Amino acid sequence: MTQRDDGFIYDDKIIYGYKYMNIDFIEPDKNCNQCDSINDYCCFECEHIQVKNKHPNSKYTDDCQWIIKEGTDDTTEKYSYDDYQVVYTDKDNNTWLVFKTFI
Ligand SMILES: [Zn+2]
Repeated sequence: MTQRDDGFIYDDKIIYGYKYMNIDFIEPDKNCNQCDSINDYCCFECEHIQVKNKHPNSKYTDDCQWIIKEGTDDTTEKYSYDDYQVVYTDKDNNTWLVFKTFI
């Protein structure tokens, strides 16, 4: 473990004020020959694209973890590429609620 005092190693420096990101939303790309939809494996390239679409300010640490700014709500973050908001309501049952643009 290289995490110290809630800091993360990024670009050989320790950065603070970040938390591990929830990456449950990542899905294998059926059109990608590196991903494996059957085993729910998403290759790094597709993972990277999906993470950056959702959280443009996320960072990939030297410890191979996705992190985002503390205080960012990564369960209700609005997708940047459409007008939907997805709320993870029930982790155990994999239930998602999808809302069209909140007013
Ligand atoms: Zn892929």
